Amino acid sequence: MASPSDISPSHALFASIVQNSDALMCLCDHEGNFIYTNPAFEKKLSLPEQTQTSFDEFFTSTPWAKICQPGNWQGEATTKDGLWFRTTLSIAANPNTDEVQYVLILQDITEQKEQEKSHYFDQQKLKSILDNIPAYVFSKDKEGKYTYVNKMLSMLLALQTDDILGKTDFDLFTQEAAQNFAKNDKAVFTKGKTIRALEDGGIDEYGIERSYLSVKCPLENEQGEIDEMLGMSVDISEQQRLEKALWESQEKLNSILDNLKARVYIKDRDLKYTYANEELCQTLQKDRSSIIGKDDYDLFEPETAIGFRTTDQEVFKNQRKVSRMETSLEPESKKKRYFLSVKVPLLNAEGHAHSLLGISTDITEQKRLEKRLLRNEKQLTTILDNLKAHVYIKDVSSTYTYVNANMCEYLGKEADEIIGKTDVEIFGKKVSDRFRKSDRDVFDYGEQSSSIEKSRHFQTGERCYFLSIKAPLVNDLGNPYALIGISTDVTEQKRLENELRTLASTDVLTGINNRRFFLELCEKEIERAQRYSKKLSLIMLDVDHFKRINDTYGHAVGDEAIRAMTGLCRKCLRNTDIMGRIGGEEFAILLPETDKKGAIHIAERIRQSTQDYAFDIGEENPVSFTASFGLTSLEDGDKTPDDMLKRADIALYDAKTLGRNRVSEST
Ligand code: GH3
Ligand code: MG
Ligand code: MG
Repeated sequence: MASPSDISPSHALFASIVQNSDALMCLCDHEGNFIYTNPAFEKKLSLPEQTQTSFDEFFTSTPWAKICQPGNWQGEATTKDGLWFRTTLSIAANPNTDEVQYVLILQDITEQKEQEKSHYFDQQKLKSILDNIPAYVFSKDKEGKYTYVNKMLSMLLALQTDDILGKTDFDLFTQEAAQNFAKNDKAVFTKGKTIRALEDGGIDEYGIERSYLSVKCPLENEQGEIDEMLGMSVDISEQQRLEKALWESQEKLNSILDNLKARVYIKDRDLKYTYANEELCQTLQKDRSSIIGKDDYDLFEPETAIGFRTTDQEVFKNQRKVSRMETSLEPESKKKRYFLSVKVPLLNAEGHAHSLLGISTDITEQKRLEKRLLRNEKQLTTILDNLKAHVYIKDVSSTYTYVNANMCEYLGKEADEIIGKTDVEIFGKKVSDRFRKSDRDVFDYGEQSSSIEKSRHFQTGERCYFLSIKAPLVNDLGNPYALIGISTDVTEQKRLENELRTLASTDVLTGINNRRFFLELCEKEIERAQRYSKKLSLIMLDVDHFKRINDTYGHAVGDEAIRAMTGLCRKCLRNTDIMGRIGGEEFAILLPETDKKGAIHIAERIRQSTQDYAFDIGEENPVSFTASFGLTSLEDGDKTPDDMLKRADIALYDAKTLGRNRVSEST
């Protein structure tokens, strides 16, 4: 670069200043080509030597053409290398040529610019942090007017930042909340210290109680005076609500656990109690604090503790739930109590059991009842199996659910061959249809039924009789779900009963109807004949001079004569005729559908055959006898057997008085 020649001493001094100055200086021509550059300039911009360079080659911010306007120019110029310069351009005429030249003085402001830039970034960062932290950040002046609010706070108030700045809490919150906030704000200014406070924000528009944890600190101005405060509030309403809810649920849980009729406890890995519910405290007669931290050996009999420990260790070892029956000895009475214990491992985040939760229910009473029930059941089974009756239970579909030993024996089958089977499968269709009919009555009416069932013996096929009692088994709603049947073999009783009935109605000597039964039959016949307007006749006969037979041959022969008289009558009668011995040697014969004429005919035949009859008694002359007959027929007014008997008796009396061995009819 050429240095100006021919310079005056003052010029020389000036030139020396320029040469040695830290400031960057240069001289440009009209096109911006550098005519002169001082050392500081060359050094800073690393100008190549011996080469013509220009302003535009180095500075990128503003083109030369724009700055070389008439008048001085001041501004900032930047280089390609990112250097910043505050630049002053002055126009100066070349004294030698009168050509217009430009003096540029450049001050390096790169560092300052970089600081500014980084400051700007810092500011941006801070703003972004403040706008995004989950807290309300604000500053207020002494009068309580907002001077800054972050985005969160403007969102909370649903207002633009500009609409909040300059306002106070009284403009933005409820009177009550604003008063709370202002009180703390005031304390910051008066004390000049940072304060932390829980601030009540009142109830918001959604009805939720708001509370804030706030930090408020004083801000000093350059003069060291506090003229603003900076605040940060975190909304802890949800946290408080959750805490409250947690507390409440914990209270609830505690109250449930304490009212549970089961022991609930938690033990740690060392098998020491960390929790015990009220029931456990009461059984041990200790308060909670004297149980926590203790183990089972401290609290129970050694024998009991060993048992508990075995289960506990299994829970920790297998990290799995264990349900077990445990026993414990009552400390005073030494009575055994039974517990159903369910113990579950409580796992930490890594899945390791750190504690166990145990619930032990006292089932001593239940056990006792079970035992008693079992004993009762055994007793009942013994009774049922030894009962001389078939006992069974059938469900609504006629399927057997129980049979006693006697029933098994009768059917010649094992119980499990019968249970689960239906009547059809066991007895076949015909018999089961009959059973079903009476079963249905029990189910439909829910009432007990009892009947005598005639049946063939299941195995021998013999005719037999069963007294069958069926009763419904009802559920809690009163609906029959099954029936119990008790079937007793009454064949023998039935036989005896028949025998008795025959005895009661039969005359022992002759085997024909006795007087009582004859009159009974007579009554029925009269009623029937009257109803259907049928004929009916009655013969009464009496052996003549019977006393003589008795007296002559003895009572036994007399009896024989009575029996013979019976046989003689029978021979002359039809099946439908009814005969009865109504006195010593006195007989009555009822002839259904027979008029008086027919009756006379029959009576005559009997009379004749009696007269012709004689029986041998091993003596010279056989015994013979005659009889007298009185007869009558049904009349309209007859109601009772007596009405006819009376008339027949009168006729018989006539026959006797007329000389015996004859038939007389009533008039
Ligand atoms: P009458 O011709 O008038 O009938 O004369 P009777 O002798 O048959 O007289 P009555 O009928 O009054 O007497 C019946 C007798 O029969 C009286 C009694 O001693 C006897 N007698 C009654 N029952 C029986 C009996 O079961 N067996 C025997 N051997 N004799 C009997
Ligand atoms: Mg007589
Ligand atoms: Mg007689």
